[in-house]
Amino acid sequence: FKPVVVLVGRPNVGKSTLFNRLTRSRDALVADLPGLTRDRHYGEGRVGDHPYIVVDTGGFEPIVKEGILAQMAKQTMQAVAEADAIIFLVDGRVGLTGHDREIADRLRKSGRSVLLAVNKAEGMQHASASAEFYKLGLGEPHPISSAHGDGVVDLINEALLEF
Ligand code: GDP
Ligand code: MG
Repeated sequence: FKPVVVLVGRPNVGKSTLFNRLTRSRDALVADLPGLTRDRHYGEGRVGDHPYIVVDTGGFEPIVKEGILAQMAKQTMQAVAEADAIIFLVDGRVGLTGHDREIADRLRKSGRSVLLAVNKAEGMQHASASAEFYKLGLGEPHPISSAHGDGVVDLINEALLEF
């Protein structure tokens, strides 16, 4: 059994950068994982003795009701439904946005447990990077830097804790 960790967040928060870091140790595996659809971005990773599958959702545009962006949102919610663990990324430099709030609402309604990661937090005080994101009501924000690696091992360990 390999738990499936799904990365969710609005465009440009750093999902693909985190995906690359979480899958760096192995070749990305893009197709044909049984039971999972193929049109998202899958990879494999391992932390210590614990292998996992990670999914980079392409985008999440809850405002758009039709067209390609709505389709992407639908795929993202399908990935959320298949997830063993969800990492919701926000951007610590931009701060909290309306889209973040909408995504948080969708995730809360999914009833799944969510780890909130404040990305791009390199060089920031953890308390100030985190402060406004408590408002999302998803528990403690985890400051990370996908680009530099800060906090990423702790984050994935926490995501995998119950598996
Ligand atoms: P995605 O749209 O959510 O997949 O975001 P990307 O992974 O494509 O990243 C969007 C932009 O943010 C790129 O220019 C990245 O280099 C930058 N980025 C990603 N992670 C970090 C980080 O930890 N720190 C900083 N400063 N920039 C980052
Ligand atoms: Mg991306």
